[in-house]
Amino acid sequence: MLSGSMSSTPSHVRSLKSKYMAGPKKSRHAAQEFGPGQREFLLCSEGEAVYYKKSWHHMTTLQAAKNIDKKRIAFVLCPAHRMKKDNVFEGEVIIENIPLNKKDQLVRTIRNVGDRAYRADVLDRILELLMKNDEVRVTTTENQLAKKIAKKVKAVYKTASVKYIFSRAGDLDIVRIRITFPQ
Ligand SMILES: [Zn+2]
Repeated sequence: MLSGSMSSTPSHVRSLKSKYMAGPKKSRHAAQEFGPGQREFLLCSEGEAVYYKKSWHHMTTLQAAKNIDKKRIAFVLCPAHRMKKDNVFEGEVIIENIPLNKKDQLVRTIRNVGDRAYRADVLDRILELLMKNDEVRVTTTENQLAKKIAKKVKAVYKTASVKYIFSRAGDLDIVRIRITFPQ
């Protein structure tokens, strides 16, 4: 168990090398079904993401979508929605003992960090944000996003303590972060 310090991995290095982010070309199933010359665009059936030119993009970056031949489009689940469906994550942040008057602002802060990551990369996102009494639990597709959230929360609420636990499950590099407000 490691705790207290941030990983030295540069933030621009994509953390996710798992099967979820490998891309359709590397997935045998997808390669068979949507091989070259068959389907050029893979749209997430849950919305938001589109795969073309070997990576996932925001749907809005797909220009002139109306003019695209429907035969060139296939619907799949994007890696983020697949992670959600399989109930897996790379990052988890649990914040506990939150003073009631700080909870709303804290959640806004977390969502802001998540929105910024999502705008930069359609697969880099908050999977789930759950609130229960004085506790908030957030899961993310990428471990770097969980670290960013923890760093931001610590920057705003300096008295909170932060603990990191790193683990590996299959090909997922998981970070679990626990942030505790003082009693
Ligand atoms: Zn999706």
